[in-house]
Amino acid sequence: MQITIRPGDTAWYYSQLFQIPLILIETSNPDVNVATLTIGQSIEIPGFIINEYIVQTGDSYWSIANRYQIPLDSIEIVNPNINSQNLQAGQTILVPVRIQDLFVNDIDQYTYEKFIQDLTLLQQVYPFIQQRNIGNSVLGKDIIELQIGSGSKQVHMNGSFHANEWITTPVLMKFINEYVLALTNSTTIRGLPMLPFYQQTQLSIVPMVNPDGVDLVILGADAAGELQESVLEINNQNIDFSDWKANIRGVDLNNQYPALWDVEAERNPTSPQPRDFPGYAPLTEPEALAIAELTGDRDFSRVNALHTQGEVIFWGFEGLEPPESLTIVTEFERVSGYIPIQYVDSYAGYKDWFIQEYRRPGFTLELGQGTNPLPISQFDEIYEETLGILIANLYL
Ligand SMILES: [Zn+2]
Repeated sequence: MQITIRPGDTAWYYSQLFQIPLILIETSNPDVNVATLTIGQSIEIPGFIINEYIVQTGDSYWSIANRYQIPLDSIEIVNPNINSQNLQAGQTILVPVRIQDLFVNDIDQYTYEKFIQDLTLLQQVYPFIQQRNIGNSVLGKDIIELQIGSGSKQVHMNGSFHANEWITTPVLMKFINEYVLALTNSTTIRGLPMLPFYQQTQLSIVPMVNPDGVDLVILGADAAGELQESVLEINNQNIDFSDWKANIRGVDLNNQYPALWDVEAERNPTSPQPRDFPGYAPLTEPEALAIAELTGDRDFSRVNALHTQGEVIFWGFEGLEPPESLTIVTEFERVSGYIPIQYVDSYAGYKDWFIQEYRRPGFTLELGQGTNPLPISQFDEIYEETLGILIANLYL
């Protein structure tokens, strides 16, 4: 919520009044110098929304504050033009309300539209989540990166490289929601306080790498727009796209990286397909390129690509992975029960390329077990298994 700065107020005072860590107020207001607030200027307080309240006979700020379990002065702040000594029944006043529930709930058939809706809500209430467009899909959808944290250790996560593995997107979105909720309410996740992690780590999350493909799997050929005929042809006129992994042009984005790409190209389809076609050359597709460029621009100490399925974690590439990779994957195994696999006869993936280029830890996490797309009934179980790994990424 936005409030207007009054004479004598400080960011520290707001932090105390609303019980929100000062660092979150600072990072929610990148354009405000919180050390020297200007009277009359607006400032964002994360973790709160403002509701309207209709004054009842006999109400006072004191009784309203009591009912809502909020400090008296917080009502004064959001009603700068109302005389609290002269409240009239039927009058509308504003009340700040602390958010204590998750926004990310509607996780079935998690289309690009649902993703954007959740993102918009999260962004409004938790403006310390930084959002950036890192590129556009073939059909022009934004490929969005979220950054959370003020620390120096940069850790990257992404989901939905593969279209019919879209369940990985709501896993990441729910995690983000739980994380920011715990931060603003100073609660723990699995017994761990989150604020120290926020101060150590900067998370970079791209929840939906392949938005065109996700919508194709969930919504069908209509979602392909001008490429409708082309996707039907690639899919042998089958209107069921649930086996589709590729982007909307029939290129497998996780076969697009220049890490033994030739080996992958040699043995895979040589034209667009629902899966496995690595493209006519590496990094021809905007979605794969956006992730490669993001990785080049940053200094990720580690990357995690979320896929389904198998309950395994791939963690090596041609012996180029550093010794630290084993330590990390061992912790991932401990907290999830997923089985580490060092090498697999598959190349040109994002984590392969990351390990090869940077000699830093890269992981492909295969969530859940079954046939893709995994049924949404598995979501809670998958989420619980994955949560341990996502949190381990904050403390490792
Ligand atoms: Zn996959």
